[in-house]
Amino acid sequence: MSDVKLDDIVSLAKRRGFIYPGSDVYGGLSGTWDYGPLGVVLKKNIMNLWWKMFVDDAENMYGVDAAILMNQKVWQASGHVDTFNDPLIACNHCKSRFRADKLITDVEEYKKEAKAYFKSQKDKLALIDLPEEWSDYKSNHIAALVDIFGEARIPAHESLKELKKHIDEDEKLSYTYMGTFPRIYLRTHSIKCERCGSNEWQDATAFNMMFKTKVGATSDNITEVRTSYKYNADHDRTSQESIREVMEMGAEAVSYLRPETAQGIFTNFKNVVDSFYPDLPFGIAQQGKAFRNEISPRDFIFRSREFEQMEIEYFVHPDKWEEAFEEWIKKVHDWCDALGLPKDSVHELEVSEADRAHYSKRTIDFEFDFPIGREELLGLAYRTDFDLKNIERASGKKMDYRPKEGGEAFVPHVIEPSFGVERALMAVLTAAYREDEQNGEKRIYLALPAHLAPVKVAVLPLVKNKPELVARAREVYAMLKKELGAVMWVDTGNIGKNYRKMDEIGVPYCVTIDFDTLEGDTKDTVTIRHRDTTEQERVQLGTLLEKITF
Ligand SMILES: [Zn+2]
Repeated sequence: MSDVKLDDIVSLAKRRGFIYPGSDVYGGLSGTWDYGPLGVVLKKNIMNLWWKMFVDDAENMYGVDAAILMNQKVWQASGHVDTFNDPLIACNHCKSRFRADKLITDVEEYKKEAKAYFKSQKDKLALIDLPEEWSDYKSNHIAALVDIFGEARIPAHESLKELKKHIDEDEKLSYTYMGTFPRIYLRTHSIKCERCGSNEWQDATAFNMMFKTKVGATSDNITEVRTSYKYNADHDRTSQESIREVMEMGAEAVSYLRPETAQGIFTNFKNVVDSFYPDLPFGIAQQGKAFRNEISPRDFIFRSREFEQMEIEYFVHPDKWEEAFEEWIKKVHDWCDALGLPKDSVHELEVSEADRAHYSKRTIDFEFDFPIGREELLGLAYRTDFDLKNIERASGKKMDYRPKEGGEAFVPHVIEPSFGVERALMAVLTAAYREDEQNGEKRIYLALPAHLAPVKVAVLPLVKNKPELVARAREVYAMLKKELGAVMWVDTGNIGKNYRKMDEIGVPYCVTIDFDTLEGDTKDTVTIRHRDTTEQERVQLGTLLEKITF
C-alpha cells in the first residue's frame, strides 16, 4: 500500500481545482465526480499521452469513436444483459444495500464453507420424499423445506423439480456470492451492516450493472425486456433466447449506456477491415465514457458510476497470440513508466484459470499500490475469438479475415489491453504526492512528470504595484503562453505563498520577474525555480525556453 493517505489526495484535488464531487451544489450524486480546470487538463494529458503512445506512434493501430448508445443486441450478444451482474445483499434491518463479495474478507474460507453447505443441503433434500407438485404440501413438509432452504426461497418454487434445479443454480451462484449462502455466511461470521450494525441479512441477488434507457418516443407501458439473471450456464443459448425475446416483445427502444468501450470496437471490426484491409496483427483503439451502476461506489474516483476507458482490441493470427501478449506486457510497463509510476509500485497478477473469464486463455491484472491498497490499475487479456464469434452468431454476418497472401479466411483472435483513465489519474496523483520541509515549514507538492502537468510554467511578477515590472512580466508571460500554451499568470499574494500554491498543483517551473530584470547587469534575466528541488537560477530571457523541458 502507498504511504499517501487518500484523504490528503481528495482534499488537495478539491482545494486546488482538480476534482470536485459531482452535483456538489445540490448535495452531490453518489458515484459521480466533476473535473475542475486543472483536473480536466491532467486527464486530457493522460489520454493524449495514451493516444500518442498506442495509436499515433504505432504503425498498425486504428482509432474509432463509437456511439455510447448502441443497439441492445450488442449487449445481448456480449452477455452483458444476462451476466454483467454484481452480487447485491441488503441489510434486513435498515435495508442498506452492499456488494456481497466486498463484505467477505476471507475468500478461501468462504468458498470452503459454501461448498460444505450445499453438500449438506443436497444430502438433506435426498432424504425427503416429496411429490412432484407440492402446492398442497402438508405443513411438516413445508417446515422441513424451510429448515433447509430458508423461508424466502420456498414460495417461489412450484415443483420439486424446480426446487432441485434451484439448489444446483444457487450452489453455482453462491460461489460468486449470490443466493442463500452469503446471508448465512455473514450471519455466522458476525459480519455486520456498516450502517446500522445489524447482523440480519437478506438473500443475495444478481444486480445488473448496466444503466438502462429508452431510445426515441416510447410509451411508458411498453413491455420491457426481462434483464434478470438467467440461471443458464449455456451462455450462447441464453443470448440467443434473449435476442428472440426482444424481437418478440417489440421492445426495440431499449438501450443501455455502454458499460465498456470494447464492444464499440468489436462492432466496427468489419468496417475497419473493409475500409483499410490492414495486415495482421493490427489494433483498433477507442477512448470514451462508460457507465456502471455500482452498488456502492467508493474510494474517490477509483470506483465511480461514470468513468472513462481507453481500450484496444489487438487482432492476431490464432497461432501468434503468445508473442503478441508478451509484447503487450512490455508496452504496459512503458505506459506505467510514462505516467511516472515507480516500478516497485506496479505489480503483475497472473489471473488463475479458476478466476479468469471462461473464454480467456491468459489474463494479467496490473495492480498498483494505491492509498486504498494494492488494486487493479489495468488489465491485459487474451480473449480468443470469443467476441467476434458472438457477433457472427447474433448478427449473422461474417467476421472473418482473409490473408493477403492467400489461404483460408479465419476469425482473428484478440488481445485486449484495457485502461481506466480515472485509475491512471489516481495512480499519477498517488505517485506524485509529496511532503517535505522547506525553511522549517511543511510543504506539499505534486511531483508530476512535466509532460503530464496541467500547468507547465507559472509567471510571477515580484510585485504588482510597479507598472514597469508588471508590463515586462506580461511580455514574458505572452511569449511563454504562445510557445507552451499551459502557462499561468500569478500575481496575488506574496512570492513565497505563490510558490507553495504552484508546488501543490505540480507546476514544474516558476518564472519570476523582479527589479533586476529591468536594469543593470542583470537586465533581461529572470529567475527560474524548479519545483522538486526548489532551486532557483538566474537565466537570460533568450535562453529561458531551453530550460523548460517536458
Ligand atoms: Zn443495516
